[in-house]
Amino acid sequence: MEHHGAQHYEPQENWSGNRGFRIQKVHDRTRRSFCKANGILLVEIRELGKRTTIESMRRQIRKALCEDGRHLPAGFDEVDLTNLPVMSESQVYWIEVQEAAQAAGLEILRQSFLGADKAVSVRCPHGHVTLKTPRSILQGRQCDECYMEQRKKPLRLSDGRVFESGAAAAKVLGVTKEVVNKAIRNDRLFNGFRVERISWEEFRHLSESC
Ligand SMILES: [Zn+2]
Repeated sequence: MEHHGAQHYEPQENWSGNRGFRIQKVHDRTRRSFCKANGILLVEIRELGKRTTIESMRRQIRKALCEDGRHLPAGFDEVDLTNLPVMSESQVYWIEVQEAAQAAGLEILRQSFLGADKAVSVRCPHGHVTLKTPRSILQGRQCDECYMEQRKKPLRLSDGRVFESGAAAAKVLGVTKEVVNKAIRNDRLFNGFRVERISWEEFRHLSESC
């Protein structure tokens, strides 16, 4: 069973507008065809509390189960659906952001929602604390620092100096980064030094011990 908020039916500012809506439609189609192909009954409930009342949700689930030849769970009609907690759209949005953060391994350090584009501090599994908008968290963006680290490759010279990238080494040594990268690729000595790629773990360890 999936509850569909308004973003499944029309572009919503919080859900990245037109672009988000196009992606949403693709995801919804993919989910439907996956369920169909795998014998999973998918019940989509539209905009509960707006387009769908609580009791009509119960009717929709009952109808879907019956049409699919499935048994109703015991006590289905007795479940008390009154006094359910009512959440605002931004509360629901914030919960989705928190779930997306959790899935991406990011810890949100501020526990209140100020807006889709109001950046919040997040901490990644590597301990980087960066600012991210709820919107970008929902889009599944990873930690910016980790992203930068993935793009840069640290290296070590045989004299013990470590650099966060070929470009950083080149700057200090007064050459272009192509010269450094070529030396690494061809395993050649460079200015009499041996240059080798190291992991970020080694880089952090070595630069701390220096
Ligand atoms: Zn990180």
